[in-house]
Amino acid sequence: MMKINVLQAKKEIGSQETFEFVTSAGEIDLEDESPWTGSEIKVDGELTNNGRVLKIKGVIHATAKYQCSYCLEDFTTQMDIPFGDDYQENSSEEVDEEADLAYYNGDEIDIADLVRESIILAEPLKIVCSKSCRGLCPQCGINLNTAKCSCSDDVIDPRLAVLSQLLK
Ligand SMILES: [Zn+2]
Ligand SMILES: [Zn+2]
Repeated sequence: MMKINVLQAKKEIGSQETFEFVTSAGEIDLEDESPWTGSEIKVDGELTNNGRVLKIKGVIHATAKYQCSYCLEDFTTQMDIPFGDDYQENSSEEVDEEADLAYYNGDEIDIADLVRESIILAEPLKIVCSKSCRGLCPQCGINLNTAKCSCSDDVIDPRLAVLSQLLK
């Protein structure tokens, strides 16, 4: 549950409140095998009434566990993920699809969906343990970050070897 009580904030234009939650992957319905499973997810932010909408803005602090796509080693990475949305009170079913707004009803805003979506969007496309990861040797499979092998650098791909024969 990540519900922010907005009773006070919506009465007072210009008001600002801070909030803080500690949650987990399971609690906000991230997949069982997600990179965030088993670690604490901290959410902090602020709620502002700007007279038009209730603005929610904050940062999610989460530790993700990944497997490097180059060297195949597991590694953890600390992520600080910004998130936010503008909320307008709406008790009717009619919503303006064009407006870039979220809606709430009553005296609470549940940010669980917003937090979950922000985390999913922050997933890196390319999962690499470090920018300088050297990966595995394509020939013997040794992890080149931690070991050296004596494989030659200029061994030709067998498919290309056929080609170089033909060129002779
Ligand atoms: Zn790596
Ligand atoms: Zn090698």
